[in-house]
Amino acid sequence: MSSTSEICKRLADVQERVRKACKRANRNPHEITLVAISKLKPVSDIRDALMCGQLHFGENRTTELNSKADDLEGQKLVWHYVGTMQTNKIKYLAGRAAWIHSAYKTKHLKEIDKRLKASGQTADVLLQVNISRESQKQGLEPSGVEQVLKSAQSLKNLRVSGLMGMATFADNPEEVRSEFRLLRNTLLEHRHLNSGSVQLRELSMGMTNDFEVAIEEGATMIRIGSAIFGERNGG
Ligand SMILES: *Cc1c(COP(=O)(O)O)cnc(C)c1O
Repeated sequence: MSSTSEICKRLADVQERVRKACKRANRNPHEITLVAISKLKPVSDIRDALMCGQLHFGENRTTELNSKADDLEGQKLVWHYVGTMQTNKIKYLAGRAAWIHSAYKTKHLKEIDKRLKASGQTADVLLQVNISRESQKQGLEPSGVEQVLKSAQSLKNLRVSGLMGMATFADNPEEVRSEFRLLRNTLLEHRHLNSGSVQLRELSMGMTNDFEVAIEEGATMIRIGSAIFGERNGG
């Protein structure tokens, strides 16, 4: 567990690196949402990050998201779900996560829409695209994105706001630049389908190891865990 000032210092370091990457890419740092991935870390770490102004937090387990959200009830923060999508777990997410990063089937979107309707809430959903082409990673092939988007246009309770991708783990992040570029191109190629609930604009890509390259390639949301909260044991 880290102390408040340790987490604040790490957050400031990440923000500085975001600023520098934006400068190189001639982008405005305000275009980038920093999502602090707090999975496997205690609620006290989230409180520390909240104290130094962090607003967006992400988890990859529905149970952990729910128990932390209960503990932090009343705090001003925005929850993101970045974990594996399972249709039978969606009922634990709708109304809890303002952002769901990892849908990749029409079935997921319909279930999210149905659950949101029941709870009278909305959410922003991103489609996960398999940019690393590793078979064990989830997500749509780029060629499958169009069909899912078309089926989402008429859904009323969610917005499909963009795409999410996880790059191959590489010691040198330059090696995965082409994967981030693939995600951005996939978004650009599908923007003509923006209609109704489909409003593509966000690119969720970049983690501790590769976020600067992701920013240079157009990321608007970066998902950072260990650079803020320190190494995790497991998970
Ligand atoms: C854990 C996780 C992250 C953050 O990983 P770090 O390398 O610790 O920054 C980002 N995205 C997803 C989907 C994750 O599961």
